[in-house]
Amino acid sequence: MLDIRNLTAEIDGKQILRGIDLEIRPGEVHAIMGPNGSGKSTLSYVLAGREGYEVTGGSAEFDGKDLLAMEPEERAALGLFLAFQYPVELPGVGNANFLRTALNAQRRVRGELELDAMQFLKLARARMKDLSMPEDMLKRGVNVGFSGGEKKRNEVLQMALLQPKLAILDETDSGLDIDALRIVADGVNALRGPGFSALVITHYQRLLNYIVPDRVHVLVKGRIVRSGGPELAEELEASGYAGDLAA
Ligand code: ADP
Ligand code: MG
Ligand code: MG
Repeated sequence: MLDIRNLTAEIDGKQILRGIDLEIRPGEVHAIMGPNGSGKSTLSYVLAGREGYEVTGGSAEFDGKDLLAMEPEERAALGLFLAFQYPVELPGVGNANFLRTALNAQRRVRGELELDAMQFLKLARARMKDLSMPEDMLKRGVNVGFSGGEKKRNEVLQMALLQPKLAILDETDSGLDIDALRIVADGVNALRGPGFSALVITHYQRLLNYIVPDRVHVLVKGRIVRSGGPELAEELEASGYAGDLAA
């Protein structure tokens, strides 16, 4: 689903990613952990195609296609979903319109019929009920005045509607409380299955108590220095990154 080879990238001429290798197969959930400043968010931005992040070498394939050659919208339409710690607020853009536009862009690329407003509302209401989201959140501006928990619910709603092939969640350094962690974890766990993969990026182990990953990788100074099973997250919680930093 995602095949990253020897990926290097820089910001403002400063090298941040120093040769990342990572392979995520369909149905797998991987976690990336690591100390502050190791390049975790940079990796998610590079995969999203954010401006200002320059890829200087290596490759990244998404579902067999050259991810790095695609525009950000193309990546999303093909089933890549990115969730960031601080979702943007879009005043003046209604949440329902925003979600329907994203969903229809994806449907067009897949050669599926677009949903009209009524069809979309029916689908969205059903998903919102599952997430205990009040319906008026569809009428409000995207994330405008949403509490932290509401933003997380909205993000999970987007994910539930778009049904991505690969979700990348950067929850690094987050001040997420336990309720918000649970919302994200439940959202990811509900989608788990052979057609869904995820990359969960986190500074802390606690999110991984709720989303139990298949593999855990430790990123230090722009490189993956260690990989293991879910037990690696617990080991890091106990011992920290000191050994990895010294190596
Ligand atoms: P992490 O998410 O692991 O905490 P980041 O990817 O945010 O790490 O940052 C990695 C390195 O890149 C840090 O040294 C940080 O200072 C630097 N960095 C991040 N964003 C920028 C930027 N916009 N301009 C310059 N340096 C940046
Ligand atoms: Mg950080
Ligand atoms: Mg970060």
